Amino acid sequence: MQESINTYLREVLRESGEDVSGKLAAYIPRLRDADENLQALALATADGQECSAGDDEHLFTIQSISKPFVYALALDDIGLDRVRDMVGMEPSGEAFNELSLEGGTGRPLNPMINAGAIATHHLVDHSSHEQHPGGQESLSRTPEVRSRTTRILDGLSAFAGRQLEIDWDAAEEEYASAYRNMAIAHMLKSHGSLETEPDEAVRGYIDQCSIMVTVKDIARMAATLANNGVNPENGDRVISAESARTTLGIMATCGMYDASGRWLTQIGIPAKSGISGGIIGVLPGQVGIASFAPRLNEEGSSVQGVAMFQHLSNELSLHLMSNQRINVIEELQRRL
Ligand code: GLU
Repeated sequence: MQESINTYLREVLRESGEDVSGKLAAYIPRLRDADENLQALALATADGQECSAGDDEHLFTIQSISKPFVYALALDDIGLDRVRDMVGMEPSGEAFNELSLEGGTGRPLNPMINAGAIATHHLVDHSSHEQHPGGQESLSRTPEVRSRTTRILDGLSAFAGRQLEIDWDAAEEEYASAYRNMAIAHMLKSHGSLETEPDEAVRGYIDQCSIMVTVKDIARMAATLANNGVNPENGDRVISAESARTTLGIMATCGMYDASGRWLTQIGIPAKSGISGGIIGVLPGQVGIASFAPRLNEEGSSVQGVAMFQHLSNELSLHLMSNQRINVIEELQRRL
């Protein structure tokens, strides 16, 4: 039966692969040079079943898919009230790297755009963490950046159920031209929304974006959110159920850049995409879904990934607002 589910996933990949429109992200050399024909899809259920197809061992940098997980860690570390004082909860309707803050409060609008993600990054509590995220490679960072990155790397590894690593070369490349994110961090600082130095926040945020994952890793990380914060594979609690629920609310309203409304209406799965070509979706209590294909649409989400999600949502009735509640794997088994 597992084999027929994998065959089904391969079929979804084949159909979504017919659309070869879209472009690779150009502003980070590592992403610009990626193999645009890579494609992968993975499912991980809240009760620990997993299946995948395509280039499911390919490692890529997590980029913005790190944002919901780091938000969840910050919620767990310092509590919703303190996080909300610094980072809002409203969709921005703007591009991911817009230089904008909420009128009146000076907070970034939400943790899924870069302004909010850079602020959220600096909220995780790193005080009790060591400073060795990668040994030698991280020595050019300040102790504060290193311990924060250690906390985030350990936290994301717990979501994935295995020790993740950072692509230090990709981080260096991105940092070398991080003018936009530096501008955002300076804007935050000038409005009192950043308690650390702008350069340190951007350094650490880019290290966070450079954590390497496979599509299977991010499916399991998504499944941990689907499973109220407990990793379904090893049973470890990574974050509280409340932090998982709050994070899913933010993903539903703000996760897909400036296409979040259309995504929730048409596909109906709380989600987050990243500029390296990944997308995760979480159906609470049910399943984590992850796709990877590097060609991006205008909003910066994977063209083929969006097609894969649309396909799965339609065929398996995964839309949150649908009145059918199904068990995804049972539904697949029934159909195959
Ligand atoms: N590291 C990227 C940036 O901050 C992430 C962007 C994304 O994945 O949307 O520009």
